[in-house]
Amino acid sequence: MNECVLPDPTGFFEIRFESIGGLGAHAAGQILARAAVLKLNLNGSHFSSYGSEKKGSVVRSYVRLGDTDKPIRTSAPIDSPDALVVFHGALLEQEITIAGMKNSGTLIYNGCEGEVPELLKNVPAGARIIRIDATNIAIEELSRPNAVLLGALTAAAPFLDADTVLETLTEKFAKRNPQAAASNERAYRRGASEYEVLEGVGEGSGDLPAMRPSPVLGYETAPIGGVIPYAGNTVSNDLSASRTGWMPLFTDEECVHCGLCATVCPDFCLVWTHEQLNGEESKVRLKGIDYQYCKGCMRCIETCPTEAMTRVTETPGLADELRVPLFVAGNPGS
Ligand code: SF4
Ligand code: SF4
Repeated sequence: MNECVLPDPTGFFEIRFESIGGLGAHAAGQILARAAVLKLNLNGSHFSSYGSEKKGSVVRSYVRLGDTDKPIRTSAPIDSPDALVVFHGALLEQEITIAGMKNSGTLIYNGCEGEVPELLKNVPAGARIIRIDATNIAIEELSRPNAVLLGALTAAAPFLDADTVLETLTEKFAKRNPQAAASNERAYRRGASEYEVLEGVGEGSGDLPAMRPSPVLGYETAPIGGVIPYAGNTVSNDLSASRTGWMPLFTDEECVHCGLCATVCPDFCLVWTHEQLNGEESKVRLKGIDYQYCKGCMRCIETCPTEAMTRVTETPGLADELRVPLFVAGNPGS
């Protein structure tokens, strides 16, 4: 068994994964805690919190590690992590994602080269910020972002022995999906070597205050009689954060406007129009996709008979550039 001493003088090291369902944060937490407890001679605990949907909602996964003489006596969420790993760039639009970041901590985020979200300015100046393009590496290696981010985390926290964590990752898939082992290993090793340490990005001073997500209405604040004072509408939904690195691309020249994609799209995000060409009878034609409502399930691609729908990697700004709005601004009825 490997011996391991935590770098934190308190004898504890806490890791928080901020993610979206489907990116593998829960599995990554399990693997890390398993490696630490069974192979690195540490005390450890792991649990996750997530909503009712499997995919698309916010997932937080927590790994708490302690030296062998430091029993872990709490299962509270980790408010002030030593390492914070952000699985999706969209999460860095919300202050709560980086809440509790320590001045002595490390933040690892999934982002393309040159992608530095504005929110990172609020990170304490003393914290390390590491960027890794986990989505693209995962796509190229037929793996998942969690393998890449685990590799980057072990590089940033070398007491988490990289070979031991990889061994545990491989064991997890050995029975269920043996073909994935080689892909995961390549993705993991690239995560451990292709990261970029960003200098001079965080400008905050001292540790950031902790925050806990809280419902808008609760036991003490709900209006009497269960009245809903602010009417909601699915028009204002934004499913962009549910996409996990890929999006459908529509090519008009290949489309025969058969409508099959519309029969499978669960979110009605395909935009249709009536067109009259050369004095002919008016025909219904597919105009494009409103990416605000597209969750990236790829059903339209599997169904399209002509390859008018293809899968592409989502790069920053691409969905906004190609978006065909379903509604005229301010008029959901149009
Ligand atoms: S299924 Fe393909 S060809 Fe048919 S309307 Fe949709 S995109 Fe066009
Ligand atoms: S990927 Fe295709 S089917 Fe799925 S939500 Fe987006 S447009 Fe609809």
